[in-house]
Amino acid sequence: MIIDCHGHYTTTPPGVGAWRDAQVAALGGGPVPDGGRFPVTDDEIRESIEGGQLRVQRERGIDLTLFSPRASWMGHQVGDATTSLDWTTRQNDLIKRVCDLYPANFVPVAQLPQSPGTSIENSVRELRRCVDELGFVGVNVNPDPTGGYWTGPDLGDRYWWPLWEAMQELDVPGMLHVSQAENPFFQTTGSYYLSADTTFFVQALSTGFMKDQPNLRLVIPHGGGAIPFHWGRFQGMSVREGWDFEGSTERIFFDTCVYHQPGIDLLLGVVPTERVLFGSEMLGAVRGDNPTTGSGWDDTGKYLEAANVTTEQRERLYSANARTVYPRLAAYLT
Ligand SMILES: [Zn+2]
Repeated sequence: MIIDCHGHYTTTPPGVGAWRDAQVAALGGGPVPDGGRFPVTDDEIRESIEGGQLRVQRERGIDLTLFSPRASWMGHQVGDATTSLDWTTRQNDLIKRVCDLYPANFVPVAQLPQSPGTSIENSVRELRRCVDELGFVGVNVNPDPTGGYWTGPDLGDRYWWPLWEAMQELDVPGMLHVSQAENPFFQTTGSYYLSADTTFFVQALSTGFMKDQPNLRLVIPHGGGAIPFHWGRFQGMSVREGWDFEGSTERIFFDTCVYHQPGIDLLLGVVPTERVLFGSEMLGAVRGDNPTTGSGWDDTGKYLEAANVTTEQRERLYSANARTVYPRLAAYLT
């Protein structure tokens, strides 16, 4: 069984983007968009999925994708707490519709209605709704809802505790995933995503906050940014600074969204196998084929097949680790 832990609904029907555009326009004085759900039909959803993620799943032999709203569109910096809540609940409801239409192929993962400078309580409530009422198995947490200005509380701050506690109580992990870079200094999927991935690992290490949250599990996407490549740097710094490298980071997991063989080989050579989960993030930021190999950049299963791991390790990477990190998956794997 092959479980892809990192997929977003990047191919939403036009009604979704139009609703968001109207919502943003309303912030500037335009008419407020319809208060109901997105104007999207089930047939439009089927068309967007069957020609997109489902087609690629089948081509690549992926059985199941953990599916969440498009990350770059979370846009937590837009408007205020109400803006974020109105947008987020609809996005999560849309993911639920996709997963209900294709229960054998997609399992729902939520975004949160975060908003800079506001309490995390809205996010806790939406997480509970998604898990308890809608059957979601995980959540994307944005540690920088300012969109690249980095002015909010770091992960070691008590600000986050209600969310960490709810995640442990509900037994769902969080993928630490930022959204669109509002700060033009960054390119969203290149510099911003990867520097964020690196930054949050170092925050976990230097603050040791996960030691106060004994059952919290976090996933860092995109292979952990620069973390595996600089594993020795962080180990060495830990000795020097008195940080507990193992204790502070042992429940941090990494996906395989790394788009060349040497990168995957390095990741698997450095990070213990039980802490790596197969992911591809298709159809994501790096679509298309590598002209040298003729394969899709994000066809990460090909790299795993070529990697120097045992059959048992490969099975862990493909599915066993995901089942451990996302225990609520069991309800979908009967
Ligand atoms: Zn992503």
